[in-house]
Amino acid sequence: MTNRRRFLQAAVSLALATRLPGARAATYDLIIRGGRVIDPSVGLDAVRDVAIAGGRIAAVASDVGDDADEVLDASGRIVAPGLIDIHTHAGRDAAAPPLALADGVTGFVDAGSAGADNIDAIAVVIRSAPQTGCALVHIARTGVTGDGELNDINAANVALAQGAIARHRDVVAGVKIRLSESVAGSNDLEALRRAQEAARPFGLPVMAHVGQNYSPMRAILPLLKRGDIVTHMYAPPPHGILDDDGQLLADVAAARRRGVIFDFGNGVVGHFTWDMVQRSAEQGFWPDTLSTDWNVMSSTTGVVDFPNVMSKFLMLGMPLADVIACATVNAARTFPVFEDRGTLNVGAPADIAVMELRDGEFEFVDNFEGTRTGRERLFPSATVLGGSVVGTEDQ
Ligand SMILES: [Zn+2]
Repeated sequence: MTNRRRFLQAAVSLALATRLPGARAATYDLIIRGGRVIDPSVGLDAVRDVAIAGGRIAAVASDVGDDADEVLDASGRIVAPGLIDIHTHAGRDAAAPPLALADGVTGFVDAGSAGADNIDAIAVVIRSAPQTGCALVHIARTGVTGDGELNDINAANVALAQGAIARHRDVVAGVKIRLSESVAGSNDLEALRRAQEAARPFGLPVMAHVGQNYSPMRAILPLLKRGDIVTHMYAPPPHGILDDDGQLLADVAAARRRGVIFDFGNGVVGHFTWDMVQRSAEQGFWPDTLSTDWNVMSSTTGVVDFPNVMSKFLMLGMPLADVIACATVNAARTFPVFEDRGTLNVGAPADIAVMELRDGEFEFVDNFEGTRTGRERLFPSATVLGGSVVGTEDQ
């Protein structure tokens, strides 16, 4: 309180000195003071103040003064653009988006929880979420089911999916498909063709969940266009991104060159092994985007939270700025709803994740009960959404 009062007094005297009598409004609504600002969108990694006015970034500088209504001390913390998680299931439950927000997630994609039959409820959750969100409509009209939603190819109904998109143009940003053999059997390629057909008139991307598919990647990838997303990119065999000798498939590298995006998609079962990530990374094949496959139960699984998933890549040797890029600016490029996000540029919406990078011994798990110990872990510390401090966590 003392600090706040001091800042308010400073604000008042500055206002008296520089403005018409009676004009008391501070220059800034909020200053995030003295954090290590990492904004890969402009290649910045330095101790800076971030000033916010009118819900937008107003200045990023070594010292922005103290003329603000509120000051958040971020010394010893990392100040990054708000995290954007492009593979979640946060649309299933109205309680989910606020939980993700507390982890620093100021933008999320519900990746195909629902299809045409049940997307309406997801759309309601997304429209009422505090942060920016969008949904992918599953090409299977049922959305994700436990017993394999595409084992009957008739579930992949193009007209119904298009109707769902038309009904929710403000929410639906793409089409989702799950290609695992347990989900689609030998229908995988036909279902993927239908997903593309549904998306085409709207110019939307398709996100394809891969892993243990019936068809090999060399058959799947040609059906993906620029801007489409492969999620669970490090799924182990059969039919992963590496050949039998552990070499990255030429088709996979070619797909990235022509603009297919490769997303991590942590999840819980079957989606990655440490070995797959490491062998791929050794050949330079890192993710374009990091994502969690998060839902309200994730705090009890190997996901924990988005900063924990990011920390796995610190352990694997990815530079911190690259890890943050994968969760901010790279993710923002995938869907137009995030067009002006993932950056701390002056004028951008003031969505910010304040995190703490702690040293210690942290155990991380893959999807096959493999554990590895890392020396650093990012923890969510505070979230700023549209210029307001909406959550602080002390762990
Ligand atoms: Zn998922």
